[in-house]
Amino acid sequence: AQSEKESQYILSNFAKDYFHDMLLNHEQGKSIGLPYFKDRGLSMPTIQKFELGYSLEAWDGLTSKALAQGFKLEFLESTGLTIVKEDKKYDRFRARVMFPIHNISGRVVGFGGRTLKSNDKTPKYVNSPESEIYHKSDVLYGLYQAKQGIRSQDLCYLVEGYLDVLSLSQGGIENVVASSGTSLTEGQIKLIGRYTKNITVLYDGDAAGIKASLRGIDLILEGGLNVNVVLFPDKEDPDSYIRKVGDTAFKQYINTNAKDFISFKTELLSQEAEHNPVKKAEAIREIISSIAKIPDSIKRAVFLQRCSVIFGIEEQVLLTEYNKLMKQER
Ligand code: ATP
Ligand code: MN
Ligand code: MN
Ligand code: MN
Repeated sequence: AQSEKESQYILSNFAKDYFHDMLLNHEQGKSIGLPYFKDRGLSMPTIQKFELGYSLEAWDGLTSKALAQGFKLEFLESTGLTIVKEDKKYDRFRARVMFPIHNISGRVVGFGGRTLKSNDKTPKYVNSPESEIYHKSDVLYGLYQAKQGIRSQDLCYLVEGYLDVLSLSQGGIENVVASSGTSLTEGQIKLIGRYTKNITVLYDGDAAGIKASLRGIDLILEGGLNVNVVLFPDKEDPDSYIRKVGDTAFKQYINTNAKDFISFKTELLSQEAEHNPVKKAEAIREIISSIAKIPDSIKRAVFLQRCSVIFGIEEQVLLTEYNKLMKQER
Protein backbone atom coordinates (compact mmCIF):
# COMPACT_ATOMS: atom_id res chain seq x y z
CA ALA A 1 0.00 0.00 0.00
CA GLN A 2 1.08 3.56 -0.58
CA SER A 3 2.43 5.40 2.37
CA GLU A 4 0.34 8.12 3.94
CA LYS A 5 2.82 10.71 2.69
CA GLU A 6 2.72 9.49 -0.88
CA SER A 7 -1.08 9.53 -0.82
CA GLN A 8 -1.04 13.11 0.43
CA TYR A 9 1.35 14.15 -2.34
CA ILE A 10 -0.82 12.58 -5.02
CA LEU A 11 -3.97 14.17 -3.65
CA SER A 12 -2.31 17.59 -3.32
CA ASN A 13 -1.19 17.37 -6.91
CA PHE A 14 -4.72 16.46 -7.96
CA ALA A 15 -6.10 19.44 -6.03
CA LYS A 16 -3.54 21.76 -7.61
CA ASP A 17 -4.57 20.58 -11.10
CA TYR A 18 -8.24 20.88 -10.17
CA PHE A 19 -7.91 24.48 -8.88
CA HIS A 20 -5.85 25.43 -11.93
CA ASP A 21 -8.46 23.90 -14.22
CA MET A 22 -11.25 25.75 -12.41
CA LEU A 23 -9.37 29.03 -12.87
CA LEU A 24 -8.86 28.58 -16.60
CA ASN A 25 -11.94 26.66 -17.67
CA HIS A 26 -14.82 27.00 -15.22
CA GLU A 27 -17.31 29.84 -15.68
CA GLN A 28 -16.60 31.13 -12.16
CA GLY A 29 -12.86 30.97 -12.58
CA LYS A 30 -13.03 32.76 -15.91
CA SER A 31 -15.37 35.48 -14.71
CA ILE A 32 -14.03 36.01 -11.17
CA GLY A 33 -10.68 34.31 -10.55
CA LEU A 34 -8.78 35.21 -13.72
CA PRO A 35 -9.92 38.86 -13.71
CA TYR A 36 -8.74 39.10 -10.10
CA PHE A 37 -5.24 37.97 -11.05
CA LYS A 38 -5.28 40.20 -14.12
CA ASP A 39 -6.31 43.19 -11.97
CA ARG A 40 -3.36 42.48 -9.77
CA GLY A 41 -1.09 42.64 -12.77
CA LEU A 42 -0.29 38.96 -13.16
CA SER A 43 0.32 37.61 -16.66
CA MET A 44 -0.58 34.18 -18.03
CA PRO A 45 3.05 32.98 -17.94
CA THR A 46 3.23 33.86 -14.22
CA ILE A 47 -0.09 32.12 -13.56
CA GLN A 48 1.25 29.04 -15.34
CA LYS A 49 4.69 29.11 -13.76
CA PHE A 50 3.27 29.20 -10.23
CA GLU A 51 0.30 26.96 -11.14
CA LEU A 52 -2.20 29.39 -9.63
CA GLY A 53 -5.81 28.37 -9.27
CA TYR A 54 -9.31 29.15 -8.12
CA SER A 55 -11.60 27.39 -5.64
CA LEU A 56 -15.29 27.53 -6.50
CA GLU A 57 -17.93 29.25 -4.46
CA ALA A 58 -19.47 25.90 -3.52
CA TRP A 59 -19.49 23.68 -0.45
CA ASP A 60 -17.78 20.64 -1.86
CA GLY A 61 -16.45 21.31 -5.35
CA LEU A 62 -13.11 19.65 -4.73
CA THR A 63 -14.26 17.11 -2.14
CA SER A 64 -16.95 15.56 -4.35
CA LYS A 65 -14.70 15.51 -7.41
CA ALA A 66 -11.87 13.86 -5.50
CA LEU A 67 -14.14 11.26 -3.89
CA ALA A 68 -15.65 10.47 -7.29
CA GLN A 69 -12.12 9.90 -8.58
CA GLY A 70 -11.48 7.39 -5.83
CA PHE A 71 -9.46 9.51 -3.41
CA LYS A 72 -10.03 8.51 0.19
CA LEU A 73 -11.77 10.87 2.58
CA GLU A 74 -9.05 10.04 5.11
CA PHE A 75 -6.43 11.84 3.01
CA LEU A 76 -8.72 14.70 2.03
CA GLU A 77 -9.07 15.30 5.73
CA SER A 78 -5.44 14.79 6.71
CA THR A 79 -4.25 17.28 4.06
CA GLY A 80 -6.83 19.75 5.32
CA LEU A 81 -8.46 20.08 1.91
CA THR A 82 -11.72 18.78 3.34
CA ILE A 83 -13.17 19.68 6.68
CA VAL A 84 -15.38 17.03 8.28
CA LYS A 85 -17.80 18.28 10.89
CA GLU A 86 -20.37 15.96 12.41
CA ASP A 87 -21.34 14.08 9.25
CA LYS A 88 -20.99 16.98 6.86
CA LYS A 89 -17.93 17.42 4.75
CA TYR A 90 -16.96 20.58 2.95
CA ASP A 91 -14.02 22.21 1.18
CA ARG A 92 -11.63 24.29 3.28
CA PHE A 93 -10.95 26.56 0.31
CA ARG A 94 -14.04 28.17 -1.18
CA ALA A 95 -14.31 31.18 -3.48
CA ARG A 96 -10.63 31.98 -3.23
CA VAL A 97 -7.74 32.40 -5.59
CA MET A 98 -5.31 29.62 -4.86
CA PHE A 99 -1.55 29.57 -4.42
CA PRO A 100 -0.10 26.05 -4.38
CA ILE A 101 2.94 25.73 -2.14
CA HIS A 102 5.72 23.52 -3.51
CA ASN A 103 8.56 21.83 -1.70
CA ILE A 104 12.07 22.09 -3.16
CA SER A 105 11.52 19.09 -5.41
CA GLY A 106 8.46 20.77 -6.89
CA ARG A 107 5.80 18.63 -5.27
CA VAL A 108 2.75 20.44 -3.93
CA VAL A 109 2.54 20.19 -0.15
CA GLY A 110 -0.09 22.76 0.73
CA PHE A 111 -2.08 25.79 -0.38
CA GLY A 112 -2.75 29.38 0.45
CA GLY A 113 -6.07 30.86 -0.63
CA ARG A 114 -7.00 34.53 -0.81
CA THR A 115 -10.53 35.79 -0.59
CA LEU A 116 -11.75 38.02 -3.40
CA LYS A 117 -13.96 40.00 -1.07
CA SER A 118 -12.77 43.12 0.63
CA ASN A 119 -14.79 42.86 3.83
CA ASP A 120 -13.60 41.81 7.25
CA LYS A 121 -16.00 38.90 7.60
CA THR A 122 -13.80 36.31 5.91
CA PRO A 123 -10.11 36.00 6.75
CA LYS A 124 -8.02 37.44 3.90
CA TYR A 125 -5.85 34.34 3.66
CA VAL A 126 -6.53 30.73 4.56
CA ASN A 127 -3.69 28.21 4.60
CA SER A 128 -3.46 24.43 4.67
CA PRO A 129 -2.90 23.02 8.14
CA GLU A 130 0.22 21.05 9.04
CA SER A 131 0.25 17.53 7.63
CA GLU A 132 2.66 14.66 7.04
CA ILE A 133 3.93 16.46 3.95
CA TYR A 134 3.47 20.10 5.01
CA HIS A 135 5.59 21.48 7.81
CA LYS A 136 5.13 25.23 7.60
CA SER A 137 8.33 26.05 9.40
CA ASP A 138 10.37 24.17 6.77
CA VAL A 139 8.77 25.51 3.60
CA LEU A 140 9.25 28.76 1.72
CA TYR A 141 6.75 29.92 -0.85
CA GLY A 142 8.38 30.29 -4.26
CA LEU A 143 11.65 28.52 -3.39
CA TYR A 144 11.11 25.80 -5.97
CA GLN A 145 10.75 28.42 -8.72
CA ALA A 146 13.48 30.65 -7.27
CA LYS A 147 16.27 28.26 -6.37
CA GLN A 148 18.24 28.48 -9.61
CA GLY A 149 18.04 32.28 -9.56
CA ILE A 150 19.12 32.35 -5.93
CA ARG A 151 22.14 30.24 -6.75
CA SER A 152 23.16 32.22 -9.82
CA GLN A 153 22.65 35.63 -8.17
CA ASP A 154 24.12 34.31 -4.90
CA LEU A 155 21.34 36.24 -3.17
CA CYS A 156 17.85 35.55 -1.91
CA TYR A 157 15.18 38.23 -1.52
CA LEU A 158 12.84 37.51 1.34
CA VAL A 159 9.31 38.99 1.23
CA GLU A 160 6.16 38.61 3.33
CA GLY A 161 3.49 37.46 0.93
CA TYR A 162 2.46 35.40 -2.08
CA LEU A 163 1.73 38.43 -4.24
CA ASP A 164 5.12 39.93 -3.43
CA VAL A 165 6.81 36.78 -4.75
CA LEU A 166 4.66 36.73 -7.88
CA SER A 167 5.03 40.40 -8.79
CA LEU A 168 8.78 40.46 -8.28
CA SER A 169 9.30 37.22 -10.15
CA GLN A 170 7.23 38.54 -13.03
CA GLY A 171 9.30 41.72 -12.95
CA GLY A 172 12.47 39.73 -13.51
CA ILE A 173 13.54 39.37 -9.88
CA GLU A 174 13.29 35.61 -9.77
CA ASN A 175 15.40 34.99 -6.67
CA VAL A 176 12.55 35.72 -4.27
CA VAL A 177 10.76 33.69 -1.59
CA ALA A 178 8.16 34.33 1.12
CA SER A 179 7.82 32.88 4.58
CA SER A 180 4.04 33.01 3.98
CA GLY A 181 1.71 32.25 6.80
CA THR A 182 4.34 32.05 9.55
CA SER A 183 6.99 34.31 10.88
CA LEU A 184 10.46 33.40 9.66
CA THR A 185 11.97 30.27 11.21
CA GLU A 186 15.41 28.78 11.70
CA GLY A 187 14.47 25.93 9.37
CA GLN A 188 13.55 28.33 6.58
CA ILE A 189 16.89 30.11 6.93
CA LYS A 190 18.72 26.77 6.76
CA LEU A 191 16.80 26.03 3.59
CA ILE A 192 17.91 29.29 1.98
CA GLY A 193 21.45 28.58 3.22
CA ARG A 194 21.64 25.61 0.88
CA TYR A 195 21.60 28.00 -2.07
CA THR A 196 23.20 31.22 -0.82
CA LYS A 197 24.60 32.85 2.29
CA ASN A 198 23.11 36.23 1.41
CA ILE A 199 19.59 37.37 2.23
CA THR A 200 18.01 40.74 1.56
CA VAL A 201 14.84 41.32 3.56
CA LEU A 202 12.05 43.15 1.71
CA TYR A 203 9.23 43.32 4.22
CA ASP A 204 6.20 45.61 4.15
CA GLY A 205 6.79 49.27 4.91
CA ASP A 206 4.62 49.36 8.01
CA ALA A 207 5.25 48.95 11.73
CA ALA A 208 4.62 45.20 11.54
CA GLY A 209 7.06 44.88 8.66
CA ILE A 210 9.79 46.77 10.51
CA LYS A 211 9.27 44.69 13.62
CA ALA A 212 9.44 41.49 11.57
CA SER A 213 12.60 42.76 9.84
CA LEU A 214 14.33 43.32 13.18
CA ARG A 215 13.40 39.83 14.32
CA GLY A 216 14.42 38.40 10.96
CA ILE A 217 17.82 40.08 11.11
CA ASP A 218 18.77 38.39 14.37
CA LEU A 219 17.50 35.02 13.21
CA ILE A 220 19.43 35.25 9.94
CA LEU A 221 22.62 36.34 11.74
CA GLU A 222 22.25 33.46 14.19
CA GLY A 223 21.93 31.13 11.22
CA GLY A 224 25.34 32.33 10.06
CA LEU A 225 24.01 34.11 6.95
CA ASN A 226 24.56 37.71 5.83
CA VAL A 227 21.60 40.04 5.88
CA ASN A 228 20.67 43.32 4.24
CA VAL A 229 17.38 45.14 4.59
CA VAL A 230 15.38 47.45 2.34
CA LEU A 231 12.77 49.64 3.94
CA PHE A 232 9.79 50.56 1.77
CA PRO A 233 7.74 53.74 2.06
CA ASP A 234 4.92 53.51 4.59
CA LYS A 235 1.86 51.54 3.33
CA GLU A 236 3.83 50.01 0.46
CA ASP A 237 4.82 46.39 0.13
CA PRO A 238 7.12 44.99 -2.60
CA ASP A 239 4.09 44.06 -4.73
CA SER A 240 2.37 47.45 -4.49
CA TYR A 241 5.64 49.28 -4.94
CA ILE A 242 6.82 47.46 -8.05
CA ARG A 243 3.35 47.98 -9.55
CA LYS A 244 3.57 51.66 -8.72
CA VAL A 245 7.05 52.51 -9.97
CA GLY A 246 7.76 49.78 -12.54
CA ASP A 247 10.41 47.07 -12.77
CA THR A 248 13.40 49.25 -13.55
CA ALA A 249 12.79 51.87 -10.87
CA PHE A 250 12.03 49.09 -8.38
CA LYS A 251 15.34 47.38 -9.00
CA GLN A 252 17.10 50.70 -8.69
CA TYR A 253 15.27 51.37 -5.43
CA ILE A 254 16.27 48.11 -3.81
CA ASN A 255 19.84 48.42 -5.01
CA THR A 256 20.31 51.91 -3.63
CA ASN A 257 18.35 51.32 -0.42
CA ALA A 258 19.72 47.97 0.69
CA LYS A 259 21.46 48.48 4.01
CA ASP A 260 23.41 46.08 6.14
CA PHE A 261 21.91 45.42 9.52
CA ILE A 262 24.10 47.90 11.35
CA SER A 263 23.16 50.79 9.09
CA PHE A 264 19.52 49.71 9.15
CA LYS A 265 19.37 49.53 12.92
CA THR A 266 21.44 52.66 13.31
CA GLU A 267 19.09 54.57 11.08
CA LEU A 268 15.97 53.27 12.79
CA LEU A 269 17.29 54.01 16.23
CA SER A 270 19.40 57.06 15.65
CA GLN A 271 16.83 59.71 14.76
CA GLU A 272 16.03 60.15 18.40
CA ALA A 273 19.41 58.97 19.61
CA GLU A 274 21.51 61.68 18.03
CA HIS A 275 21.21 64.25 20.80
CA ASN A 276 20.13 61.94 23.56
CA PRO A 277 22.98 60.03 25.22
CA VAL A 278 20.65 57.56 26.94
CA LYS A 279 18.91 56.71 23.65
CA LYS A 280 22.27 56.50 21.93
CA ALA A 281 23.53 54.01 24.49
CA GLU A 282 20.38 51.94 24.00
CA ALA A 283 20.87 51.98 20.24
CA ILE A 284 24.46 50.82 20.58
CA ARG A 285 23.46 48.03 22.94
CA GLU A 286 20.75 46.95 20.48
CA ILE A 287 23.26 46.72 17.66
CA ILE A 288 25.83 44.92 19.77
CA SER A 289 23.23 42.36 20.75
CA SER A 290 22.73 41.60 17.04
CA ILE A 291 26.46 41.38 16.49
CA ALA A 292 26.73 38.94 19.38
CA LYS A 293 24.45 36.57 17.43
CA ILE A 294 26.93 36.11 14.57
CA PRO A 295 28.62 32.70 14.94
CA ASP A 296 31.76 33.68 12.97
CA SER A 297 34.24 35.47 15.25
CA ILE A 298 36.04 37.32 12.48
CA LYS A 299 32.77 38.74 11.13
CA ARG A 300 31.85 39.75 14.67
CA ALA A 301 35.12 41.63 15.03
CA VAL A 302 34.63 43.43 11.72
CA PHE A 303 31.12 44.55 12.64
CA LEU A 304 32.19 45.69 16.10
CA GLN A 305 34.85 47.80 14.47
CA ARG A 306 32.30 49.38 12.12
CA CYS A 307 30.01 50.06 15.03
CA SER A 308 32.86 51.78 16.81
CA VAL A 309 33.50 54.04 13.82
CA ILE A 310 29.81 54.88 13.29
CA PHE A 311 29.17 55.86 16.88
CA GLY A 312 32.60 57.28 17.62
CA ILE A 313 33.12 55.03 20.59
CA GLU A 314 36.31 53.18 21.35
CA GLU A 315 36.22 49.57 20.33
CA GLN A 316 37.46 48.53 23.77
CA VAL A 317 34.32 49.97 25.36
CA LEU A 318 32.07 48.17 22.90
CA LEU A 319 33.98 44.99 23.49
CA THR A 320 33.37 45.19 27.22
CA GLU A 321 29.64 45.59 26.65
CA TYR A 322 29.73 42.80 24.11
CA ASN A 323 31.48 40.45 26.53
CA LYS A 324 28.82 41.18 29.14
CA LEU A 325 26.10 40.25 26.64
CA MET A 326 27.89 37.05 25.65
CA LYS A 327 28.07 35.99 29.30
CA GLN A 328 24.36 36.59 29.76
CA GLU A 329 23.46 34.57 26.69
CA ARG A 330 25.62 31.53 27.29
P1 ATP B 1 -2.53 41.25 -0.44
O1 ATP B 1 -1.57 42.10 -1.22
O2 ATP B 1 -3.21 40.22 -1.25
O3 ATP B 1 -3.50 42.04 0.36
P2 ATP B 1 -0.37 40.67 1.34
O4 ATP B 1 0.54 39.51 1.06
O5 ATP B 1 0.17 42.02 1.09
O6 ATP B 1 -1.71 40.38 0.57
P3 ATP B 1 -0.25 40.96 4.17
O7 ATP B 1 -1.37 41.37 5.03
O8 ATP B 1 0.88 41.89 3.99
O9 ATP B 1 -0.90 40.55 2.81
O10 ATP B 1 0.26 39.56 4.73
C1 ATP B 1 1.48 38.97 4.29
C2 ATP B 1 1.32 37.47 4.21
O11 ATP B 1 0.95 36.94 5.47
C3 ATP B 1 0.23 36.97 3.26
O12 ATP B 1 0.68 36.86 1.93
C4 ATP B 1 -0.11 35.65 3.84
O13 ATP B 1 0.82 34.66 3.45
C5 ATP B 1 0.04 35.87 5.32
N1 ATP B 1 -1.27 36.21 5.90
C6 ATP B 1 -1.86 37.41 5.94
N2 ATP B 1 -3.05 37.36 6.54
C7 ATP B 1 -3.23 36.07 6.91
C8 ATP B 1 -4.26 35.34 7.58
N3 ATP B 1 -5.39 35.94 7.98
N4 ATP B 1 -4.07 34.02 7.77
C9 ATP B 1 -2.94 33.40 7.37
N5 ATP B 1 -1.94 34.03 6.73
C10 ATP B 1 -2.06 35.34 6.50
MN1 MN C 1 1.57 43.46 6.01
MN1 MN D 1 0.16 43.17 -0.67
MN1 MN E 1 1.77 42.92 2.28
